[in-house]
Amino acid sequence: RYALKLGETLEALRQLATHDPLTGLLNRREFDRILAEESERAVRFGDPLALVLLDLDHFKRINDRHGHPAGDAVLREVSRRLVAQVRSVDRVLRLGGEELALVLVQTDRAGARRVAERACAAVRAEPVAVDGTPGLEVTVSAGVAVLPDDAATPAALVTAADQALYAAKAAGRDRVVVASETGRPAPGA
Ligand code: GH3
Ligand code: MG
Ligand code: MG
Repeated sequence: RYALKLGETLEALRQLATHDPLTGLLNRREFDRILAEESERAVRFGDPLALVLLDLDHFKRINDRHGHPAGDAVLREVSRRLVAQVRSVDRVLRLGGEELALVLVQTDRAGARRVAERACAAVRAEPVAVDGTPGLEVTVSAGVAVLPDDAATPAALVTAADQALYAAKAAGRDRVVVASETGRPAPGA
């Protein structure tokens, strides 16, 4: 009986250590671990590995207008929609604040673009219903980068995806930008 309780406790601790309590997504620490592990695997087997960084558009406004609890509810719903758009082998993570990520294994540039577009569309498609407010219009911007095309290391992959995300914001938000198409040299490549 105690062994069972210990097992449950360890499992609960493991969940706390690896997941974000608000959204249930994998946390930042897992991001670093997963990215290192998956890029090593991708290089070894010659498979592409795609990273999609997403950031909610004008999220501060949602908090300011509807309150922090409404912002939290939006984050939870957006997370749920992202999870619905990826395969079970892919990972959806919360890197902090309103910054989310998709790690897509064995996925090339065209595939990653497709998933990123679908994710943005799923967020845009339906206003997010939050207690006491009419449905809120929410959008996300996304930056896509692929290893080995855009970067040779996990750090360079993050930099490339982040630059693409920045370009998506600058181009007007609610859109996907792919790293190789931002016109910048691939970092670390
Ligand atoms: P942009 O389109 O350029 O990304 O604009 P933005 O308003 O989304 O960006 P900014 O970085 O200015 O604001 C992010 C906001 O996210 C500010 C912060 O209060 C809010 N935020 C971060 N974490 C949480 C959270 O856990 N819950 C809630 N409700 N808000 C959060
Ligand atoms: Mg934002
Ligand atoms: Mg942000």
